[in-house]
Amino acid sequence: MKTANKKVTAERLVRDALAKAKHFADYNIFTFIDEEGAIRRAREIDAKIARGEDAGRLAGVPYALKDNFISPRGETTASAHILEGFTSPVTATSVERLEAEGAIMIGRTNLDAFAHGSSTENSYFGATLNAYDRERVAGGSSGGSAVAVALDIVEFATGSDTGGSIRQPASFNGVYGLKPTYGAVSRYGVVAMASSLDCIGFFTKTPEDMDLLMSIAAGRDPKDMTTLPDYYGESKVGKAKKIGVIKDFDNGSVDSEIRGALKHKCDLLKKKGYEIVELTMPALKYALAAYYIIQPAEVASNLSRYDGVRYGFRSEKAKDLSSIYDKTRDEGFMPENKRRIMIGNFVLSSGFYDAYFLKAAKARTLIVQEYEKAFSQVDYILMPVSPNPAFKLGEKVNDPVAMYLEDVMSVSLNLAGVPGLAIPAGKSKTGLPLGLQLVGPRRSDKALIEFARELQEDD
Ligand code: GLN
Repeated sequence: MKTANKKVTAERLVRDALAKAKHFADYNIFTFIDEEGAIRRAREIDAKIARGEDAGRLAGVPYALKDNFISPRGETTASAHILEGFTSPVTATSVERLEAEGAIMIGRTNLDAFAHGSSTENSYFGATLNAYDRERVAGGSSGGSAVAVALDIVEFATGSDTGGSIRQPASFNGVYGLKPTYGAVSRYGVVAMASSLDCIGFFTKTPEDMDLLMSIAAGRDPKDMTTLPDYYGESKVGKAKKIGVIKDFDNGSVDSEIRGALKHKCDLLKKKGYEIVELTMPALKYALAAYYIIQPAEVASNLSRYDGVRYGFRSEKAKDLSSIYDKTRDEGFMPENKRRIMIGNFVLSSGFYDAYFLKAAKARTLIVQEYEKAFSQVDYILMPVSPNPAFKLGEKVNDPVAMYLEDVMSVSLNLAGVPGLAIPAGKSKTGLPLGLQLVGPRRSDKALIEFARELQEDD
């Protein structure tokens, strides 16, 4: 990561990033760019450096913030109409930690509204384009963040991953994307999607940068009761020997080039002396169905707070209390948000709770146990992030089931709370990035990042 010093000032780094952001404006990466604020911050950092003070481990490093993180700089919209006009008086813990080390936010990035989606097409502000093919999706929901890093506008970007939203766009754009262990990084100040699944993580160009960001952002936060006690810095990185591949995924539903990339990396590991172990994990076939019950149930509950009274937008058609709620929610949410609210309330309703939510919760326990069993046999698992590389804009956006199937290999990690690191794994014949994910037991984040270096190649 290039930090500022006396020769290369923070102002220089920030101005370069802002110029690149402008150059790539038609990719629709940013929902807001804070030129003035970023330059003001850069000058403060430069003044510190000039005085010989410590300006932090991220001194002057420009970064992009997914627009579902709150901070007083600019509106936090989560790319949803209903939050337009909402400025937060407080700052997310992760943002506070990064900025205390000198990082400078240049802008906020586009996402599927409320992080509901796998393509960034569900955004109120329109889709973000893929960094490698402008006719294809960026992936989602953190599409803007992934493309901002892939196009080298910023050194890193933040993301949230409830069911793949960091890993899938990372793999569609050829960068690293980490979904940490559940509770590793504070969720305080990130617009809640599904609270038992939400994880805060990052996009970077190298594993080393990911390690640096995690060492800064991870750790206990009294404002988020689910954060784990500090473990990241103290993690012992033992020598891995056995790497698992999941046999159940080795079928026609996964693109042949992605399967080829997986085989290639396994061969590389074998050459380096690792043992590749085939695992059968039959409970994973319930992951997608369980996720699309538990997640909307939590979404329905979390989105009930947007009522046209407390945040942002209120419908002009509202006449009385009940129409403030109805009209504002009708106009303010995207169709995908509404679909999830309806599914969520349905699976939680008294007549259907046992048949849906309870069953999904039981399947979740089986998935947790299956991962525990797997990690008693292997150190890490290597598997695809998604069944295909980036798809065409418009290809799946009107077919919710096709879009949900994108998440078939990413959601089980969120259900189990285990970390996953998306790594670049070469290109398809047509030049699209291919991605794989490394999965480890809970709290193995640092070891996973370290291990990713074993898989680095020039591609
Ligand atoms: N694509 C998944 C969904 O739409 C995951 C979203 C996320 O991780 N925020 O639910």
